[in-house]
Amino acid sequence: MSSAEYQKAWREKNKEKMAAFRKKWRDKNKKRLATYNQEWAKRNRERLLEYYRKYRKEHPELAARWRENNRDRIRRYQRNHYASVKRWRIRNREKLHAHTAVKRAIRRGEIVRPKACVKCGKVGKVDAHHRNYKKPLEVLWVCRACHWKEHKRESN
Ligand SMILES: [Zn+2]
Ligand SMILES: [Zn+2]
Repeated sequence: MSSAEYQKAWREKNKEKMAAFRKKWRDKNKKRLATYNQEWAKRNRERLLEYYRKYRKEHPELAARWRENNRDRIRRYQRNHYASVKRWRIRNREKLHAHTAVKRAIRRGEIVRPKACVKCGKVGKVDAHHRNYKKPLEVLWVCRACHWKEHKRESN
């Protein structure tokens, strides 16, 4: 058997092994490549921004034209942004209000803070968790761990 023939036979025999090896190499390097790109973007973020800023300054007519052509997009963006800010404010106002209401109710003796988590029964400090800030006095008294889990569950 010539050496070329031998190699061919070997490759034939180890086809799957070779394919697996190549796949592994690709996967490994995909990760490395992605990391590299991320690093590069991070390192060059300022430089890129600077470049864009400079470019816009040097070509004000292009920026103006872009705005002209993308009026709807800009308006949509502004509207969405405004709506999300508004939502955030409302949510946080409700949140603040709910916490104040709980504190006040505790002071008045209308609500008693239990000594243990209602979810897992762990004795210790418990937080008041609101499932709905619109119902400030409906609270779930939970330990830190359960509280965290509750938020995670609700955000899904
Ligand atoms: Zn708990
Ligand atoms: Zn909570």
